Amino acid sequence: MTARILVVDDIPANAKLLQARLLAEYFEVSTVSNGSDAISACENGNVDVVLLDVMMPGMDGFEVCRRLKAEPATAHIPVVMVTALDQAADRVRGLDAGADDFLTKPVNDLQLVTRVRSLVRLKVLTDELRLRASSTHRIGVEGLLSHSGLLQNSLPRVLLIDEQTSSAAHICALLDGAAEVDLALDPQSGLFQAAEGSYECVLVSTGFAAFDPLRLCSQLRSLERTRSLPIVLLAGTKEDERILRGLELGINDYVVRPLDPQELIARLRTQVRRKRYNDELRQSVSQTIEMAVTDGLTGLHNRRYLDGHLPKLFERAIARRRPLSVMITDLDRFKQVNDTYGHDGGDEVLREFARRMRKSVRGIDLACRFGGEEFVIVMPDTDGALAEVVAERIRKEVAQTPFAVSGAAKPIPVTVSVGVSSLRQEGDSVAGLMKRADLALYDAKTAGRNRVVASAA
Ligand code: GH3
Ligand code: MG
Ligand code: MG
Repeated sequence: MTARILVVDDIPANAKLLQARLLAEYFEVSTVSNGSDAISACENGNVDVVLLDVMMPGMDGFEVCRRLKAEPATAHIPVVMVTALDQAADRVRGLDAGADDFLTKPVNDLQLVTRVRSLVRLKVLTDELRLRASSTHRIGVEGLLSHSGLLQNSLPRVLLIDEQTSSAAHICALLDGAAEVDLALDPQSGLFQAAEGSYECVLVSTGFAAFDPLRLCSQLRSLERTRSLPIVLLAGTKEDERILRGLELGINDYVVRPLDPQELIARLRTQVRRKRYNDELRQSVSQTIEMAVTDGLTGLHNRRYLDGHLPKLFERAIARRRPLSVMITDLDRFKQVNDTYGHDGGDEVLREFARRMRKSVRGIDLACRFGGEEFVIVMPDTDGALAEVVAERIRKEVAQTPFAVSGAAKPIPVTVSVGVSSLRQEGDSVAGLMKRADLALYDAKTAGRNRVVASAA
């Protein structure tokens, strides 16, 4: 997966060195030598990951990072601070400035490439979500997320899976005050716990006596419940091979023992911050999608959804030579309800009607509000005779029990007329199927209402 990396360093030789290594991995690399050029490049939207030198004249790396992270248009771009090896304090300052990761000079090749790759992978996911969110919302993603709790610093909820009690205790102590940690002492219960809990990150220790930690990672990746849960591997010094395999399997990051507490906390926070950001985006996207296909008054699917979905159910029934029926319902003399009890009274009736209708059909039936006081139910695997039975059940369900309306002294009588049609295996069409149900409904109305009419097969 290629990506555009921006290397920021005031010393050209340093920038060239990083550039050469990244070019060898087929990344696209550009370099700038000061902070303000770095910010401009990011604002132009052509950067996927920034490698940022700390020590620069004028604006230093921390300040550049702070400004990038403070600006909604650039806050999602991962920033890796490149610090001098002996400057542990710099890492903390980098974190405070919002950096996503850090590398120490001289930069280790494996670390450079794996860190950049894993950040690129996350960035791609975030970009995809941002795009979807912004194409479905008229307000920008920035506005969407500005009220979110992303910047709110609640402690990450972490599951540590480590068989060795002493190492586990050591890690828990390291993370004390920085994360809420639960511990699982064997891989199997760890897997269950990860799937059942509401964790934001899993730390997998490689020190199992008789179990391959990567198997656990791959299981975590394949379970629906844990698929998007970040995994950080806690590895030994001679485990480069395993780390590489783990990254291929989809672990998000790793820390090598002896564990540096700052580093562990930093990587953990980065994963959790990203997860929270992406969860937020994902939620807003699915909310928007749901809103677009849901009728606000009744909570049923709307006509747009029906138009998209009915052709699929139709094709499937034809292909499998299975029956399929449709009914259209229309409340009788509904205008009178509105005239007598007002629009709000009418709305109450519509909501209650939808509730009764939903109660009378199966989960696989597709119930939609077609518009106004007309509803459509599509019933897969249901022939005409059975569809009539269902329609009759709905009619009775409505006629039998009057509807409570706020403005009325006592519940009011409501009736519904229903037209039913069924799929013809030869020469039928979605339009034909709907047309026949509509004609049947018309017949039910003219025959006196409060009745079900089925179109001739
Ligand atoms: P019939 O179907 O029995 O022939 O008579 P009707 O009075 O139901 O006929 P018509 O289809 O002409 O009237 C439907 C009414 O439904 C008209 C419209 O004001 C009302 N209506 C449509 N959508 C809504 C809604 O969302 N809320 C409310 N309260 N009324 C609605
Ligand atoms: Mg009508
Ligand atoms: Mg009506």
